[in-house]
Amino acid sequence: MRRHLARSHLGSAVSRDHSAPGNQRFRNRALCCICGQLRTVGQYYRGKNPSNEPMPDDPGVRWCAWLRCEHCREVTLHAVLADNLNHRWGSAGCDRERSNRLRDRSRRRIQRRLAGFAAEGIAVIEKLSSEEMQVDSATLEVVEYDDPRGMEIRISAAATPEQVLHGIEVAEDVIDEPDRLGAWMRTDRGRWRGLALRA
Ligand SMILES: [Zn+2]
Repeated sequence: MRRHLARSHLGSAVSRDHSAPGNQRFRNRALCCICGQLRTVGQYYRGKNPSNEPMPDDPGVRWCAWLRCEHCREVTLHAVLADNLNHRWGSAGCDRERSNRLRDRSRRRIQRRLAGFAAEGIAVIEKLSSEEMQVDSATLEVVEYDDPRGMEIRISAAATPEQVLHGIEVAEDVIDEPDRLGAWMRTDRGRWRGLALRA
């Protein structure tokens, strides 16, 4: 009998919660302060003191709720356990760790592949400001000089790891097939040809 009551009580509480914005799934647990019986409560629901006495002026009251206890069979003060908060902090921590891990992995990949260019005698110039890039808003440039400078890869400081990785792939293709760099040009920088990748 008690189990049936508990279930129907919980059922109505769950459906009422659906109207609460941003709180459709997570409920905190709440502990009866008289008998220790556990139940759940919507994140913002605090109930009403049955004797209409004002709540004590204590910051801990934020974590108390007046709820019906199935064991005491009356409305009692419950201590709210911050399950919802733990859930949010927990998952935010996981997301942060995951994106940090991915970013570290991208950085390591980039460094390995840039080291590969250097091993082939190709100069890699990193963290250039947009003014230092030859083309505005370019994320990565491949330039070949028709002199001992040879091939040069220039990377903007504003490029994301994904843009750099993509640029490195294009640069590797171009190094194998330099004609993709197009026609030679002659400017005060010398005779050169190159291509710029934009975001
Ligand atoms: Zn109780």
